[in-house]
Amino acid sequence: MKQIVVLGAGYAGLKAVRSLQKKEGDFHITLVDHNDYHYEATELHEVASGTQPKTKISYPIRDVLDTKRVTFIQDSVVKINPESQSVELKNHATLQYDYAVVSLGFCSETFGIKGAKENALEMVDVPSSEKIYQHIMEMMKKYRETQDEKYLQILICGAGFTGIELAGALVDGRKDYAKAAGVSEDKIKISCVEAATRVLPMFDEKLADYGVELIKKLGVNLMTGCMIKEIKPGEVLYTKGKDDPEVNTVAAATIIWTTGVSGSQVIGESGFEQRRGRVMVNADLTAPEYPNVYIIGDVSAVMDPTSNRPYPTTAQIATRMGLHAAKNLYNQLHSKPTEAFTFHSLGTVASIGNTHALGLVGKTQVKGYPASVVKKSIMNKSLLDIGGLKELLSKGRFDLYH
Ligand SMILES: Cc1cc2nc3c(=O)[nH]c(=O)nc-3n(C[C@H](O)[C@H](O)[C@H](O)COP(=O)(O)OP(=O)(O)OC[C@H]3O[C@@H](n4cnc5c(N)ncnc54)[C@H](O)[C@@H]3O)c2cc1C
Repeated sequence: MKQIVVLGAGYAGLKAVRSLQKKEGDFHITLVDHNDYHYEATELHEVASGTQPKTKISYPIRDVLDTKRVTFIQDSVVKINPESQSVELKNHATLQYDYAVVSLGFCSETFGIKGAKENALEMVDVPSSEKIYQHIMEMMKKYRETQDEKYLQILICGAGFTGIELAGALVDGRKDYAKAAGVSEDKIKISCVEAATRVLPMFDEKLADYGVELIKKLGVNLMTGCMIKEIKPGEVLYTKGKDDPEVNTVAAATIIWTTGVSGSQVIGESGFEQRRGRVMVNADLTAPEYPNVYIIGDVSAVMDPTSNRPYPTTAQIATRMGLHAAKNLYNQLHSKPTEAFTFHSLGTVASIGNTHALGLVGKTQVKGYPASVVKKSIMNKSLLDIGGLKELLSKGRFDLYH
């Protein structure tokens, strides 16, 4: 019997398993993940802001597995040895495989900014997102004790897609924070420091401007053109532009790092040729030199032939890769040729809190409340796609009318 290991049960890995477990054949799958639950990373900002509990964005992995065909191991992958076809785990015996699907996802990238790791909170998984919310609430309590306004300041480093979605969710959470601090909502200050002068570059200027105006109207202080130089405890140091020698400081008791992500560090430690934890994969999603290893989701880079740059790493492409890797692996098991991966984005919609959003669906622009309905439909579709009907019915967002 052929042994398949799938490493990481995020969008890419779980989709691959769910697709493979339905197929007939003489193979067994072993799925490994740190956690015994799957979480929707696209909703982490809601856990970080406290607007959704962990249970709303996650479900037990075993609930969606065919346990006759899949063995689940809850453990951390330490290293993959493609030469000896083995995977080292932290607490279990080394696994041997005939085929591997590597889908270990993203981690925070600090770009070497001094103090970022030590003095800013990252938002990369459920525990780190829950920690942000707990931290905010602790700071509100400290304000009650000290009346020091720095405890009411929340600062997001980076106004990319993730930073903007987080800012919107924090605006929704502001009422709760204010209650905990015993102040009016307008006393809670939310700022976003961003090096670029134009935010949301994935959208055209008019749509991005709409997003900027909306976020400002909601009371977020958007500090664009500010290059972060260092993070000190409770302080962000920045310059206005790259060459300005004057260093400015902004104080905040809560500093959250959403400036960028890279692929899992396990990729580099396993000796794959990579850049920032991402492997430039073959057209069929296998690793260069290893036709029995698929590298998918945020740990892979796939060229977009139209832009000649790698596709942005998203849940949408990760899910498609999971499906495609499962199909190719099945072909290999039956001595059939693999097929090249192709991708057409269905669009991107950024939520700004629960009732606002903006983005593109196909080529159509969507804005405001209708866009937030579209966003929830996209999330529901993704939930159905990975978790199936049962998970959609228990976790789906059907609060479309307010
Ligand atoms: C706040 C936020 C909003 C986003 N919004 C969108 C959006 O609207 N649309 C969109 O398409 N994309 C969005 N993204 C990006 C999207 O979440 C990622 O591209 C996507 O999660 C990648 O999927 P993946 O399966 O490759 O990895 P992940 O979802 O990161 O899953 C990786 C899995 O591997 C496990 N794992 C990691 N390391 C190990 C290890 N060493 N050992 C064992 N297990 C391990 C993890 O526990 C996890 O289950 C957003 C991201 C964030 C943070």
